[in-house]
Formats: sequence, structure tokens, C-alpha cells
Amino acid sequence: MAAENKKQNVPDDMPDWSAYRGVMIFVEQRAGHAKSVSWQLLGEGRKLADKLEVDLIALVIGHDVDNLAKDAIAYGADRVYIADAPELKDYRTRPYSRVALQVIREVKPEIVLFGATATGRDLAGAIATHLPTGLTADCTILDVEPHPSRLLLASRPAFSEKMLATILCKQYRPQMATARAGVFEAAPYDPTRQGEIHSVPSLMAEEEIDAQVLQFIEATERFDLEEAEIIVAGGRGLGGPDSFQLLQELADALGGVVGASRAAVDAGWIGHAHQVGQTGYTVRPKLYLAVGISGAVQHLVGMQNSDCILAINRDPDAPIFKVANFAIVGDLFKIVPALTEAIKAKRA
Ligand code: FAD
Repeated sequence: MAAENKKQNVPDDMPDWSAYRGVMIFVEQRAGHAKSVSWQLLGEGRKLADKLEVDLIALVIGHDVDNLAKDAIAYGADRVYIADAPELKDYRTRPYSRVALQVIREVKPEIVLFGATATGRDLAGAIATHLPTGLTADCTILDVEPHPSRLLLASRPAFSEKMLATILCKQYRPQMATARAGVFEAAPYDPTRQGEIHSVPSLMAEEEIDAQVLQFIEATERFDLEEAEIIVAGGRGLGGPDSFQLLQELADALGGVVGASRAAVDAGWIGHAHQVGQTGYTVRPKLYLAVGISGAVQHLVGMQNSDCILAINRDPDAPIFKVANFAIVGDLFKIVPALTEAIKAKRA
């Protein structure tokens, strides 16, 4: 039996976790709008739940968020637990983690996944400190071993991003992980899907919550690379910081945002918030324009799942063309302004 267990990745001294079943996804929202990573995780969670033959469960916390419970079912959840109360409108660690802990303790999912966003990281960390379990942060690949081990195989870049480490949580349940936005694909939205919706109470009154949200001040530069549908990204080929203005004009004409390769960020031409790739953001826009970017593997892992890729490079052998749907070989300083003018003229 011991030898058989070892073969199946089940430690001999593993406690009986058979009461823990199901894959739970935290649906992150702000002002009632879900972060797209939530739907991407439901898409991936569906695959894990099907492999384990268990329910996919969504946890929705907020105020006036009934629509998100329905959306979670349409995106693949079988069951939704929803805490909807005025004091849960904005994310705060204690009220959110109290609700999440209560639901996890009662529902006993074997896996709980969060987006690796500021909120997801904070909430997952707070929950992990209260539950006798660990947390694998910033995963880029998720899989499960089938019964009997039912282990979550949570993989993430490690050792300065040079290796991919697969981390197992053999002794404790639930197995928890945060996962990067843009890596996984949401399932098609199916409004005809049926599922259960369970209401759960908010567990803290406003006067018990020590942190208060006084005001939201939007950053002067409104910018969300992970949520953008169009990204115009520039690399070392731009030659300096001023040329990013050319990309900004093209991005403005298209209604998109500006991204960058690490070479451009390391040179100090643009901030790290714009960096796409292994040590930057993983993005999945409808359109990705790679301008003066060679297409190093560390850049490709961050953008190759974009729906459509247009690359502009003067080197016809640049590796970026291998993943591009459309290629323009030539000087970006001639092509980008011409493209911007053509788009503006078409929109005028
Ligand atoms: P280059 O490779 O120098 O390419 C510049 C391109 O511009 C060339 O193809 C050239 O033909 C073209 N060009 C030049 N002038 C023009 C012109 N006038 N018109 C048209 N085309 C022109 N990189 C990332 O991007 N993101 C990451 O997250 C990242 N993480 C990394 C993590 C690790 C551990 C390591 C080791 C590296 C990482 N890198 C990352 C760096 C990566 O390996 C490359 O060095 C980097 O992506 C190169 O950036 P680039 O394509 O802008 O520059």
C-alpha cells in the first residue's frame, strides 16, 4: 500500500481530506465590474473541476453584484456563493477575508484560486494565514492529478524567472493559488447555463471595520494593461523615450494603451507598468501591435495569446514575425505615423 501510495503521489501520512471537494474561484470586482482574470480563472477552473469530477464554485463578494453571480454561471460555475452588502462594496481585507473564510470552512473546496492582482494577492494571503494551508503565488500553469492524490499542480516561474517550478500542497486543504491575468482563456459566455446561487451573510458591521474608504482617486494616467483590448507596444527599435509619443498617438487613434518590451523599460524610456512579458504583464488583447520588438521568448510568453498580432520590424527575420498574424517589414518611423494618419482619416 505504501509503495502504491508513493507511486500515486499520496504521502503515507496524508490526512483524510475526502470532505474537501470542488474547485472555487474568487470573482474579483470593482464598482460592480468583474476583473477579466475572474472569468479566465473560471475557464481554467472548469477544466480542473471536470478532471476531478467535482463542481466549479464561484465566490462573489460586493454590493449590488447579483449580475456577477449570473455571469459566473454563464462562464462555467455550477454553484455561486454571494455575499452582497453595502459594507462589502469596496474591497477591504478584514470584511472580505471573514466572508471568504466562512464560506471556505463550510463549503470545503479542495482548490481555491484567486487572480494575482493587488486584491487577489492580499485576500489570498490573509486567508492562507487563517487556514492551515499554503499559497502558491503568481501561477502561469495549473493542472491536477486525478484521484487518489487530487493534487493541484501549480506552476510558476522561479529562480529569477529562469525555471518553471511546480509546487504541490500534499498535506493540507484547501490547496490555494493566485494566477496571472491573461494566461488562461475564459470559456464562451453561455447565458443558458444553469447553476445554484447561495446567499451568504456579511459578517462585519461597518462600525467594526477598522479601515474606511474615504475616496477613490483615479491615477492621472488611467492605465490598465491587463484589461486593455488594444495594445501598441514598443521596443528597443524605438531608439529612445521620445519615440513612445508616436506609439501613444497610434494607441489613442485606435483606443488602446501603450505597452513595452523589457529592453525599453530597462533603458528607462517608459515605466515598468507598461512591460509585457515574463517579468512584466501577461496580456491577451484583441489586437497587439509589436513595434520595433524582436520577439525574444521572454516577451512572447507575455503576449502570444493575443487574438491578433501585428508586428512592425525592419528585420524580415525577426522572431516576432513567427507569432504575428500580420507583418509589416520596414522602418517604424515611417510606418507608425502613416498608420496613425490613415486611422484618424478613416475615423474622421
Ligand atoms: P531587441 O531585441 O534589441 O529588438 C529590437 C528590434 O527592433 C529588432 O528586431 C530590430 O530589427 C527592430 N528595429 C530597430 N530599429 C527599427 C526601425 N527603425 N524600424 C523597425 N524595426 C526596428 N523581455 C521582455 O520584453 N519582457 C519581459 O518580461 C522580459 N523578461 C525577461 C526575463 C529574463 C529572466 C530575461 C533573461 C530576459 C527577459 N526579457 C524580457 C528580455 C528579452 O530577453 C529581450 O532582451 C527583450 O525582450 C528585447 O527587447 P526588444 O525586442 O525591444 O529589443
